[in-house]
Amino acid sequence: MQKKDVVIIGAGAAGLMCGITAGQRGRSVAILDHANKVGKKILMSGGGRCNFTNYYTEPTNYLSHNLHFCKSALSRYTQWDFIALVEKHGIPYHEKKLGQLFCDNKAKDIVNMLLDECAQAGVEVRTECSISQVDKVDDGFIIQSSHGKWHCQSLVIATGGLSIPTMGATGFGYDIAKQFGLKLFPTYAALVPFTLTPKLLEQFEGLSGTSADALVSCNDQSFRENILFTHRGLSGPSILQISSYWQPGDAISINLFPDMDLYDHLKQVQQERPKAHINTILAEQLTKKLADRLCEIWFADYGQKPLAELSNEALHTIAEQLQNWQLKPTGTEGYRTAEVTMGGVDTDEVSSKTFEAKKVQGLYFIGEVLDVTGHLGGFNFQWAWASGYAAGQYV
Ligand SMILES: Cc1cc2nc3c(=O)[nH]c(=O)nc-3n(C[C@H](O)[C@H](O)[C@H](O)COP(=O)(O)OP(=O)(O)OC[C@H]3O[C@@H](n4cnc5c(N)ncnc54)[C@H](O)[C@@H]3O)c2cc1C
Repeated sequence: MQKKDVVIIGAGAAGLMCGITAGQRGRSVAILDHANKVGKKILMSGGGRCNFTNYYTEPTNYLSHNLHFCKSALSRYTQWDFIALVEKHGIPYHEKKLGQLFCDNKAKDIVNMLLDECAQAGVEVRTECSISQVDKVDDGFIIQSSHGKWHCQSLVIATGGLSIPTMGATGFGYDIAKQFGLKLFPTYAALVPFTLTPKLLEQFEGLSGTSADALVSCNDQSFRENILFTHRGLSGPSILQISSYWQPGDAISINLFPDMDLYDHLKQVQQERPKAHINTILAEQLTKKLADRLCEIWFADYGQKPLAELSNEALHTIAEQLQNWQLKPTGTEGYRTAEVTMGGVDTDEVSSKTFEAKKVQGLYFIGEVLDVTGHLGGFNFQWAWASGYAAGQYV
């Protein structure tokens, strides 16, 4: 039997940060992960450059059934703390846009930094270690694994959510929560592309790879960034963001001309350039390919005529369609491509200070396995760092 003060299951962002913090306090720590490498999601994140935090991290960047839960941890380990760690390791980084910080070189810089910190804090990290059983005993927990039996006082579950099963995601954390009688919220894929009906896909055929700046809204939330046509449906940052607020059956509204009143603009152009055709005007904002296709699909009747021949009613119809395009996705691409999992372990079951389960002494849950989900833009990693750090101080 291998004895440690703390065993952490999951060597992802949250687990590694928790291990470092606990190790620095002098606790003996082992981190066990079934994957062949640690931090696989860090490595694949941000297009291989890891969007590791966001300058503008606020509790309002998170969704949860309890919007207050994340506040304490986020205030005790902020984006500035993580930036200081990155700078201490001399890792070059830059702000891409909207406060999103990325490595200049590779996401591997972040994994190496975390592994260096683990080594300095004396944290043992085991990969290819499968866990078969977890039992509570009087003085802690016994964990049966492919690397033998472990005993620990504090057990931390940092196994993340269900997104990207091919990268090692499992429902392990939810199973442990159930085993110990903790409440869970249903989980679903978030920060995920939408799929569309075969008819819409046919209409958009050939547009795959085309993007447009758009304001996308659903259920009182709006995001302004690009949308991207794909061969399965729609993606792009504003679509991924709104997917976290979308429920099956909901329509989303897309405004393809977010900076103007399109009707007023068309009226003005009608005066100034009466011979112009609608697709030419739209192509001044959208790509020509997209403008032409949307005109074919939506405005076949008007497209043949110069603007001068279009009635006010026609211009209203055109403006309404382009500024309030009502689209009903058939679904999402699911966990196969989702960046995160919504729902999970009910935060009411866990202390927001220590992350210890209120009902089970010594059992901790951190990171994405909890019902806390960030917006796109580095917020999910910031949650992993902050919750890992907070628990690391108490385990
Ligand atoms: C493609 C992609 C890109 C992303 N890009 C960004 C980004 O740029 N910025 C951002 O903020 N967020 C990003 N995210 C989200 C971010 O990766 C996660 O929110 C974050 O990794 C969650 O951290 P975690 O430690 O809770 O879980 P994870 O990082 O998922 O770590 C969980 C660990 O547990 C291990 N594990 C799982 N099950 C078991 C088991 N049964 N036994 C043993 N070990 C197990 C896994 O192998 C893994 O190492 C991205 C996600 C994806 C999928």
